[in-house]
Amino acid sequence: MSWQARIDRALDERRAASALRSRRVVEQGAGRYLFQDGKRFCNFSSNDYLGLSHHPEVIRAWQTGADRFGVGSGGSGHVSGYTTAHHALEAELADWLGYPRALLFISGFAANQAVIAALTGKYDRIVADKLSHASLLEAASHSPAQLRRFAHNDAAHLRTLLASPLNGQQLVVTEGVFSMDGDSAPLVEIARATREASGWLLVDDAHGIGVTGPGGRGSCHAQGIAPELLIVTFGKGVGVSGAAVLCSEAVADYLLQFARHLIYSTLMPPAQAMALSASLKVINSGEGEQRREKLAALIGRFRRGAGTRVTASQSAIQPLIVGDNDRALRLAEWLRQAGCWVTAIRPPTVPPGTARLRITLTAAHEEQDVDRLLEVLDDAGE
Ligand SMILES: *Cc1c(COP(=O)(O)O)cnc(C)c1O
Repeated sequence: MSWQARIDRALDERRAASALRSRRVVEQGAGRYLFQDGKRFCNFSSNDYLGLSHHPEVIRAWQTGADRFGVGSGGSGHVSGYTTAHHALEAELADWLGYPRALLFISGFAANQAVIAALTGKYDRIVADKLSHASLLEAASHSPAQLRRFAHNDAAHLRTLLASPLNGQQLVVTEGVFSMDGDSAPLVEIARATREASGWLLVDDAHGIGVTGPGGRGSCHAQGIAPELLIVTFGKGVGVSGAAVLCSEAVADYLLQFARHLIYSTLMPPAQAMALSASLKVINSGEGEQRREKLAALIGRFRRGAGTRVTASQSAIQPLIVGDNDRALRLAEWLRQAGCWVTAIRPPTVPPGTARLRITLTAAHEEQDVDRLLEVLDDAGE
């Protein structure tokens, strides 16, 4: 088949399954409101859970950083890009989360690729929760290591997979808060199963960091575990962009030798590192606590109002499982007509037959926003 025929066929298949993806140009997409074509929508699609993307102190830190360092880092951290701003941020992260070291990455996607590629080899086994994020599963499938997937949040199934004989090492992979379901992993059970199998645990807490746990330290602190590898990302609750891997001294030194995403890629701008430091300061403060409390109250309000329609998720991610792709798209369109911006999530992002509206609540919302969303959902039901 020619290149053109192959591409046309792939697109046709997606179209026929109502699974074609496209983007919408928005004037502004994070924060309480989303603007498109001059129209204002209440934004229930952003991962900016604490509303920090528009925080004046975070914005000012980025501006100050740009004045001081310019807008780019100028190179890989291994060459000339690793500034005092990056160094300070890594130290703050390690101290905050209780690890010897933190290493910055340009994104969570890159961090997951880099860590899994650098650590795992041919004789090893990666045992990942079935609903792990695409960045984790893709990294695992590219690795020469064996990939096994355990049933979602099922530590007993994990134990069974870990028990099968192997010459190499085992890396268990899961998330703190799952991105499409909003539920939390049973980290204590998973950590115990991993330890008993002499494996290492990687927890990707993209949706937990800043938002859950004491001081916003995330899912691992909330459940009292310290995985060998903790991935935190900064594009969600932290309100900016980027990621970090928290680990031991030796693992950090090892990644600096072997993680190609670090060595052959331009480091994030120093100004971004300064914005991240400012955001962490807010997360750590009384104001951060107030934002988390406000978010929790809004989540409770939504869940009470939605009744049996919601899942067990207690997090800011409140999926309404619709099932059928077309129906999910129609419902999202209905909500948009009514001024509520909600995204329909379809397979392959989620398992077949579980298309859903992925509703996210943030501390930037007000009670009336939640009430309006519930009202529109009620109308849609009729
Ligand atoms: C969003 C997400 C990522 C990717 O992080 P980016 O910084 O956006 O690249 C990785 N893992 C999980 C679980 C995520 O939800």
